[in-house]
Amino acid sequence: MQFVCPFQRGAHVSALPPLSPLFAWLEITEFCNLRCRHCYASSSPKGTHGDMATADWLRVIDQLRQLGVRHTQFIGGEPTLHPDLPTLIRHALAAGLKVEVFSNLTHISENVWQALQLPGVRLAFSYYSDDPEDHEDVTDTVGSHARTRATIEEAKARGIPLRASVIKVLDGQRHDQAREELLQVGFYDVRVDRLRQFGRGADGRAPDIKNLCGQCGVRKFAISPWGDVWPCVFSRWMPVGNVHHNSLTDIYRGEQMRAAVASLAEVFPEKHSMGKDKKPDVVCTPDCQPSFNTCSPQLVCAPDAECGPTGQKKSVVLSPHRSVRYYDPGVSNTDC
Ligand code: SF4
Repeated sequence: MQFVCPFQRGAHVSALPPLSPLFAWLEITEFCNLRCRHCYASSSPKGTHGDMATADWLRVIDQLRQLGVRHTQFIGGEPTLHPDLPTLIRHALAAGLKVEVFSNLTHISENVWQALQLPGVRLAFSYYSDDPEDHEDVTDTVGSHARTRATIEEAKARGIPLRASVIKVLDGQRHDQAREELLQVGFYDVRVDRLRQFGRGADGRAPDIKNLCGQCGVRKFAISPWGDVWPCVFSRWMPVGNVHHNSLTDIYRGEQMRAAVASLAEVFPEKHSMGKDKKPDVVCTPDCQPSFNTCSPQLVCAPDAECGPTGQKKSVVLSPHRSVRYYDPGVSNTDC
């Protein structure tokens, strides 16, 4: 079976090797202590860690490096509640990967803190309101607001780079005040975005490919707690292989992934156009959040960001595609 290449119209996919992936989401658990209304993974306290043993994840991390992946995000569920997260973080760092842990910041143990403090690791989280009741209406968990706020302070005190986003989930939610509060706390920039209609956030509706950003599977992919590989964490109904049965290289370069990307290119042709130098437009480095409308080049200096001089504090001009700065002077003093 042949597919039309999403990057070079008219060429067959099999004629062009896909670009090396840069980023991978490792969804290491479907267990979470919260039950957020918008959760694309439908995680809850009833979730499990799936059937990926720690040895499986270690093997996957080795394969990521061999594939050329540079950045990985541990996500879930709540990844800090996976008993072997510190081991996985250390293995990823030893493999040369940059690590981000996407957490709800409500339950971090000392051994996880130790791993989070290692160079090359940062934390990310979502926030909903400056009002505890409002925030907990989204998380469906009493006390979550105070715990997240306390953990933000703990992370700052420990010098851990932090990235925050605010997600609009409910009518009347104080999302603007939430953003303002985070800016006051010291975050350099905070993005406010809408929820994505996947998982519990879909409220019973079938997943719609139009709710994806369109660049899923292009230089990125996600791996589930069961070893399934998806083009991204949102496109969970589009499995393209399983790491229990095949190597990541075979899956990423395989026909199922190409078919998935080709189907996305049909729906999002503007995201798969050619650059003026006749090479594929360089896609953003993925850091799609559960609610973000586009991929956001946050993890590396991205081609569509307006990168500026380093080493001095200044007003940053954001490109239309640029989103979040980190609470980390070492990062926020640069525009990349
Ligand atoms: S959105 Fe995150 S914190 Fe909320 S239930 Fe899902 S995994 Fe847990």
